[in-house]
Amino acid sequence: MDTPSLYHKLSRLLPKATIRLDTKTLEAHAGDKWFARHLPEAVALPRSTKEVSIILAFAQKNNIPVTTRGAGYGYVGGCVPAKGGISLSTARMNEILDMNPRDGVAVVQPGVITKSIDDAAAAVGWYYPPDPASYADSSIGGNIATNAGGPHCLKYGVTKHYVLGMEIVLADGTIVRTGGRCHKNKSGFSLTELFVGSEGLLGVITEATIRLIPRPQTRGALAVSFKTMSAAANCVDAILNGGHLPSALELADEWTLRAARKYLGSDKIPKGHAFLLVEIDGRHSAVKSELPELQSLIQKNGGFDIRSAIGEANCDNIWNLRRQFSQSLKATGLHKLNEDIVVPRSKLVELFKFTSKLQRDNGIPVACFGHAGDGNIHVNIMIDDKSRIERKKSDQMLDLLFTQIIHWGGAITGEHGIGLAKKPWWPIAANPSLRKLHKQVKSALDPKDILNPGKFI
Ligand SMILES: Cc1cc2nc3c(=O)[nH]c(=O)nc-3n(C[C@H](O)[C@H](O)[C@H](O)COP(=O)(O)OP(=O)(O)OC[C@H]3O[C@@H](n4cnc5c(N)ncnc54)[C@H](O)[C@@H]3O)c2cc1C
Repeated sequence: MDTPSLYHKLSRLLPKATIRLDTKTLEAHAGDKWFARHLPEAVALPRSTKEVSIILAFAQKNNIPVTTRGAGYGYVGGCVPAKGGISLSTARMNEILDMNPRDGVAVVQPGVITKSIDDAAAAVGWYYPPDPASYADSSIGGNIATNAGGPHCLKYGVTKHYVLGMEIVLADGTIVRTGGRCHKNKSGFSLTELFVGSEGLLGVITEATIRLIPRPQTRGALAVSFKTMSAAANCVDAILNGGHLPSALELADEWTLRAARKYLGSDKIPKGHAFLLVEIDGRHSAVKSELPELQSLIQKNGGFDIRSAIGEANCDNIWNLRRQFSQSLKATGLHKLNEDIVVPRSKLVELFKFTSKLQRDNGIPVACFGHAGDGNIHVNIMIDDKSRIERKKSDQMLDLLFTQIIHWGGAITGEHGIGLAKKPWWPIAANPSLRKLHKQVKSALDPKDILNPGKFI
């Protein structure tokens, strides 16, 4: 049977308009927020697990590639249908099925936008902490499939720490449930975790039961300047060694601050060559007493020009500055290659020395900011998009950066995943036996390689 007839046949097994073949819909499902694009042959917009199961059973039988798509806000081309076939979008599976503070759980469909889960939790005094910067746009299914993280993960952990159970449709259409709504569960292997971070290669997540925690009563923040990045990084150590566990420890370097001064006006940006945002949360009285303690510890460790804030609105003013860093870099007119590398925290000072040298040696700016508390720094290589020479140079810079990161015991991605963007560096990120194990797991669950083919495995 030719390909169009196959899709018409599939279409007849599903409710009307579930399978789309028009060019506009295909084009809208070709890429994410990274460069790569590839047109699918069909887009599937199921509304239920049953429909996902029908699609996968049909695809497996007919050897059709299926690439799951959440909100398409990925940064590594993960949902790009690299081998064509079906782009299976979860956009219409977007309901919060249960919000249950008594059990401390929410049950959600995969297409729910992450922020709306936290908003719904907040309405009943509860909290869903994992907060990728994209959380107002990305889906919970995508967050689970990439094990997304954000600033608050320093204190609260990343997405995997909040997934208690899942419903998954396997490559052959089988529907399985892992875990459940219990906060502890040691029945069999930890299969829930196997699917977290699996980037759409092992199955389609059709429902998740996620852990909620009581919402902290308030938060407090300090915005601090430092003379050097090394001083700021050392202060991060001093804060944690001093027995404080902030809810966020966000660092930005001089290049980022300069871009922000240009974009927002120098009066809006603190002085100094490095910037640290420290946030704590908890009961009012605890935050009120801890904040001055932290301030004096930070001053002793070289921090100056310190602004302090307590309460949602005041803290948001400080966060607004942090939130503008990415936009400030974009406003330079250069193209930002955002690498979400991670190093063991003790290597932060060396990392900043290394990125300064990388910049000097290659004459291409490198801007660093990010989650210093867990060693997850966004290293942004700022290239002139039009110049081929710069693209070649930036690839060489990435080779050097990633090799060094691995040498330090770090990881080439802490948040975004491997997808297509980091595929060239997968062989240095995972040794041969680990790569073999990935292949074995993949072929046990998806022997015909129909799920998200063309990616890193
Ligand atoms: C401006 C911006 C800021 C960002 N900030 C952060 C950040 O701070 N932290 C962070 O971690 N990431 C960040 N990201 C990356 C991105 O938002 C996350 O990777 C997010 O989890 C992607 O979710 P999505 O719904 O858009 O997934 P998509 O991009 O649609 O898909 C991502 C991957 O998940 C798979 N997938 C999606 N849904 C399912 C499902 N139901 N079942 C199985 N597989 C599925 C896809 O096949 C693909 O491999 C950022 C991206 C942008 C553009």
